[in-house]
Amino acid sequence: MSKQKIVSGMRPTGKLHLGHYLGVIENWVNLQYDYDCYFFVADWHALTTKYDKTEDLSQNVLEVAMDWLACGIDPDISTIYVQSQIPETAELNIYLSMITPQTWVERDPTLKDMAKILKTKEGANTQISYGLMGYPVLMSADIMTFNASVVPVGNDQLAHLEITRDIARRFNNIYKTENGTAFFNEPAPKLTQIPLLCGLDGSKMGKSFNNDIKISDDEQTTTKKIMQAVTDPNRIKRDDLGDTDKCEVAYKYWQIFGDIDTVATVKCECEKGERGCADCKKQLACVINAKFAPIREKRRYYEEHIDEVKLILEKGTQKARVEAQKVLSEVRKLVKMY
Ligand code: ATP
Ligand code: MG
Repeated sequence: MSKQKIVSGMRPTGKLHLGHYLGVIENWVNLQYDYDCYFFVADWHALTTKYDKTEDLSQNVLEVAMDWLACGIDPDISTIYVQSQIPETAELNIYLSMITPQTWVERDPTLKDMAKILKTKEGANTQISYGLMGYPVLMSADIMTFNASVVPVGNDQLAHLEITRDIARRFNNIYKTENGTAFFNEPAPKLTQIPLLCGLDGSKMGKSFNNDIKISDDEQTTTKKIMQAVTDPNRIKRDDLGDTDKCEVAYKYWQIFGDIDTVATVKCECEKGERGCADCKKQLACVINAKFAPIREKRRYYEEHIDEVKLILEKGTQKARVEAQKVLSEVRKLVKMY
């Protein structure tokens, strides 16, 4: 039996951080052995909010691809491609836009959150573009371009996928195949229960919040950043008794990156006042640097062999297009296009 298809993407809005690694990429790396995976750099989606800041867009496509490759996305197993190089997705987006009731996109809670954030960041008069409104439809087109049946999602994306399932069902009802079977799969969510990684200030790690550690940061930068992480504000002297529940960042990172024994030691020493925050963070930085050393080395290789990265994207895009063309030629017949 052929493997089920998975489609998932990330926006090229900057170099990726450890939150992306833990929240998305590590999961993809595991999925690629069991599913036929299509991972795309979502450069059209980047335009939904950053249409006027495109100077770095094409470089960021490469940065994201390098992060993925360094983390273990294997281009011989997975198909890695650039969204805007698949015109079939744009065409499908048109067909899907026509059958999607306006109320479906308006009720999307993720979109409402994005609109709120945008207005806070850019000012109350910020207009939500037609393209941003259509984000859930374009996402549906991304998935349906390959007639994928599974989509890995976090909780925040569940509502989007519900729209995709609704759109697929509506398409199947409107455009019947000759034998009456449904043409599109209603893609099922593959929920990943990964809590958001916090940033150095204790709030969610985000690339626009200036609180992240990049996958591509070097050891020195990582250590410097971790040394700046907030700690339990009640601990002033080295031998003050600590409370790991109040340690917003370092202890949380220990729980993610440390082994069980080390975490227990950290907790015990902190609570007895035998572990200063500076030493604690220095040691933590070593652990994180050790974990990411092979990934960073691989990334440096790709930085020095950028033509290889471009070739991987080209080949992935070609492979993706062949699949996309198959689906779209059927779609055109079903819609009865000229
Ligand atoms: P921005 O600050 O521009 O919103 P971001 O760092 O939040 O950027 P996105 O491109 O919005 O990154 O996120 C892509 C996906 O990466 C999200 O849907 C989410 O699943 C995952 N992700 C982002 N930040 C984290 C995080 N801190 N922990 C775990 N997963 C994350
Ligand atoms: Mg975000």
